[in-house]
Amino acid sequence: MSERAAFRGRVIHCLRNPGVSSDADAIEYFDDGLLLVEDGLVAAAGPAEVLLQNLSEEISVTDCNKSWIVPGFIDCHVHYPQLDIIASYGERLLDWLNTYTYPAEARFNDPAFAAATAERFLDELLANGTTSAMVFATVHPESVDAIFATAQSRNMPLWTGKVLMDRHCPDDLRDTAESGYRDSRALLERWHGQDRLQYAITPRFAPTCSPEQLAGAGRLADEFPDAYIHSHLAESHAEVAWVDRLFPERSSYVDVYRHYGLLRERAIYAHCLHLEDAGISAMAEDGAAIAFCPSSNLFLGSGLFDFNRAEVAGVPVGLGTDVGGGTSLNMLRTIEDAYKVLQLRGQSLSPVRALYLATLGAARALHADDKLGNFEPGKEADFVVLDTEELPILSARLDHAHELPEALFALMMLGDDRLVRQTYLLGKPAIS
Ligand SMILES: [Zn+2]
Repeated sequence: MSERAAFRGRVIHCLRNPGVSSDADAIEYFDDGLLLVEDGLVAAAGPAEVLLQNLSEEISVTDCNKSWIVPGFIDCHVHYPQLDIIASYGERLLDWLNTYTYPAEARFNDPAFAAATAERFLDELLANGTTSAMVFATVHPESVDAIFATAQSRNMPLWTGKVLMDRHCPDDLRDTAESGYRDSRALLERWHGQDRLQYAITPRFAPTCSPEQLAGAGRLADEFPDAYIHSHLAESHAEVAWVDRLFPERSSYVDVYRHYGLLRERAIYAHCLHLEDAGISAMAEDGAAIAFCPSSNLFLGSGLFDFNRAEVAGVPVGLGTDVGGGTSLNMLRTIEDAYKVLQLRGQSLSPVRALYLATLGAARALHADDKLGNFEPGKEADFVVLDTEELPILSARLDHAHELPEALFALMMLGDDRLVRQTYLLGKPAIS
């Protein structure tokens, strides 16, 4: 006997990439819509008056009134061990790592501490309407076991992996090329493909990985082509100059990763702010994706992402919060920062495109758009219900919105976690 449920409200989702021209037809919207879920998967999304006609009376309909029913947000780059150093003052990337990040990460060799932080972190994601994330753990295998086990117990899709870091870091956060490969492989074999979990081979970034370690990561990627790769790339000028000094035989930062077999499909690189055109072209050719992390890029003073260049080159882009460098786990707040970054770049981020980046586009960047990202029948029913009445200033603004994009834009610029009425994983409430 299948388990069925229906949710009635303003149903909205993306059908495809709207492109730079931001084709409004890339969105489907039902003012009085119904989302039908069967055994955790989307059965249908459409006008309530049509779908209700054929609905068996035994199916419970959750009336969300005028709330928006949106595919769950997907965070393409975030660090769970940095939850408690969010909003730390005054540093740029390399000093930020030494001053705040490394001391915080040193505690994650303790499984109980890691598990408790993982619980709070996933609580926060769900409270913000985020249903999937690609997550940095720490160098300790215990940190990976903790976040995978916690996500598994909640039925949440999650990508993570052990950080590889064998130089230019504190001793208590240092592995070796050999132990990094061995521990990563053991974790990958334990977790990759279990329920909704995916393993990501995770060199922190080229400056903290010896050539031997990068070669080991590339070997692992070669041995497990369906595993993911997750790292940082060209976030700050000082970092790029450091990579140039460390790898003088390589033509560029991108070429370092490419040389070691780490530029390929299922590879996600955070930031990509300071790359030559050739670097972006190489990413497009090899099928690697970018996590655009606007709030972190502004907070750490790192730079302004050239979104149009990546889009025109055909590099898949998703949004990342990059907490703790980012200042919010909320994807609406992240969209607001993305909009402002592109304004400063002389580019534009339409609300249609922004919704795509936080949902279907992110799923595509993660090679998961066959399962996640919108309400096509058969996709996994992860979604969030946003109640705009919770915020009087937004509610009043929407009274003056004449068209859907205008309303959606106001929701994105003014909304935050206060709007989240409930978050659903596989059609079941995920917030108790
Ligand atoms: Zn990061």
